[in-house]
Amino acid sequence: MTPLIAGNWKMHGTLAEAVALAQAVRAGVAGADLLVCPPAPHLASVVQALVGAAVAVGGQDCHAAAKGAHTGDVSAPMLRDAGASHVILGHSERRADHGETDAVVRAKVEAAIAAGLVPVACVGETEAQRLAGEAESVVAAQLDASLPDGFADAGGVVAYEPVWAIGTGLSPTEGDIAAIHALMRRVLAARFGEGGTRLLYGGSVKPGNARAILALPHVDGALVGGASLVAADFLAIAAAAVAGRTPGG
Ligand code: PEP
Repeated sequence: MTPLIAGNWKMHGTLAEAVALAQAVRAGVAGADLLVCPPAPHLASVVQALVGAAVAVGGQDCHAAAKGAHTGDVSAPMLRDAGASHVILGHSERRADHGETDAVVRAKVEAAIAAGLVPVACVGETEAQRLAGEAESVVAAQLDASLPDGFADAGGVVAYEPVWAIGTGLSPTEGDIAAIHALMRRVLAARFGEGGTRLLYGGSVKPGNARAILALPHVDGALVGGASLVAADFLAIAAAAVAGRTPGG
């Protein structure tokens, strides 16, 4: 499976900085699919900056409704209209800051699919849940409740992001990542009967650890926060993903 390296730019950067970052990743990396997810006000300009480049653009969230009286929100059709092809949903920062439950995430995933967007649905345990030995059960329950039935057919992507590893410089052991990804593959196969869903790992992925993480079984790419704001680091992570899949690379 071609690795997908997705950059979550979160609430960072001016419009000029977003366009410059997009231009700096335009060249891409042969053998990897790239996706960048700028803040909503910068999205259309980033799409423009990437015309003709093999770099997809996504939103960071959408509302479950296609339109309506929802001040401050952005709908999935609006993202599509602005040129997005993907949208991150259920990121732990949305779950924590905005109280998004699995049911809310599921409704948003449905809205994204209805609008023709590829959802990148995020799951992951907190530190307390991991210490309590609940990581696998938490992730399985989140998958079950956050993904609607049409998820696999729509080409949906799942990102495993342990909450305690995001932006902290900490990451699980390679064994722990492999175990959760194997679990996710089993859960998705049982539910959707296929193996084609891309499973990303996210949480302090940097050029230095990317190759080892991205070579693990069932790790089909990465969702990258901090390191995606530095074009050279983002491209180095993508190159590491490709090298890890190339015999002798
Ligand atoms: C993220 O927010 O999706 C993320 C993985 O962030 P970071 O790479 O900074 O840990």
